[in-house]
Amino acid sequence: MIYLDNNSTTQTATQVVEAMQPFWRENFGNPSSLHRAGQMARHGVETAREHVAALIGARSRDIVFTSGGTEADNLAILGTLAANPAKRHIITTAVEHVAVFSLCERLAKEGYRVTFLSVDQQGRLDPAELERCIDDDTALVSIMHANNETGVIFPIEELSTICQKHGVPFHVDAVQSAGKISIDVQALGVGLLSLSAHKIHGPKGAGALYVGRRMRLRSQLTGGHQERDLRPGTENVPAVVGFGEAARLARQRLASQEWLRVAALRDRLERRICEQVPFAHVVGDRANRTPNTTNIAFETLEAEAILIALSEQGVCASSGSACSSGSLEPSHVLKAMGIDERIAHGAVRFSLSVDTTTQEIEQALPIIVSTALRLARLSVLG
Ligand code: PLP
Repeated sequence: MIYLDNNSTTQTATQVVEAMQPFWRENFGNPSSLHRAGQMARHGVETAREHVAALIGARSRDIVFTSGGTEADNLAILGTLAANPAKRHIITTAVEHVAVFSLCERLAKEGYRVTFLSVDQQGRLDPAELERCIDDDTALVSIMHANNETGVIFPIEELSTICQKHGVPFHVDAVQSAGKISIDVQALGVGLLSLSAHKIHGPKGAGALYVGRRMRLRSQLTGGHQERDLRPGTENVPAVVGFGEAARLARQRLASQEWLRVAALRDRLERRICEQVPFAHVVGDRANRTPNTTNIAFETLEAEAILIALSEQGVCASSGSACSSGSLEPSHVLKAMGIDERIAHGAVRFSLSVDTTTQEIEQALPIIVSTALRLARLSVLG
């Protein structure tokens, strides 16, 4: 199997599995217990907190563990709105992950005023549009760092400066950027930032919300006093420990040349496909993307047909399209970018990881090219 779907999830690293191992049976205590068993579990959780904090330049006490990126996004948005009930306006973008996008759509139905900032054909955001939309009623700005479908990176520092100028809390969904590009929450001036373990070779079902010093947030669950009263419930200790180890490894890799190697492989994959498939187009701003992602649209083809054919030949990739009642809708991200439907329907995302090898890319290339050419011939015949 050649796995090129790392924006969906990554393989758990061996070191992560090993780090988690003692926390199933030996160190099974409840981190809230005062006795020795509890304190050993507590030690595991606090060490993980330090590693996760270090990955984003935060203080460890500002990290709140959650069940993943989706919960971190929900806590950031709903928690901020609950803490500032007088304000009823939210600003986000039209290309967010559904964890933010669908929540904001729901909030709009519930009576909040929601502004979805638009992007251009390259998936780029104009910070001046954010400035124009902020008003006295704005409770929160929630904007992703890197897009999960295209990898396009938004100018968080610039956007953060605008939010600070207007005194509006700023939440960043960094699920797709963390571990791939360096993040320093202090330098960025971000108030809230979401992370997910399984995108950085950690376990599924673990994530975190960075909550900056001055943020006012209300817990969305009622229960115990865990996680600074912001996320009650006994911590998922093995998963949290695994997340910590994944963050430690991710930080090490950021200091190495690994991502340059991955970006070169991604560029090679993209270039060779576009050279050999005349109807292939790269979607998104090539100059400003995460190093592992390329979104290639095969004009007039259906992404699902390509993905199934690739899967049969051992290549795993994905698309942002949702298949509902037999009709294939292009993703809301590509729609918001104004990509022509004939192109958007054939968009396939290839996402590499630090585990991807040159040999895998060399093996995948002829499979991808021949599949696209064959399906195009069939569609012409059809
Ligand atoms: N935000 C972004 C940008 C994502 O890509 C994802 C997952 O694909 C999430 C949030 C949700 O994270 P999780 O799967 O940990 O809930």
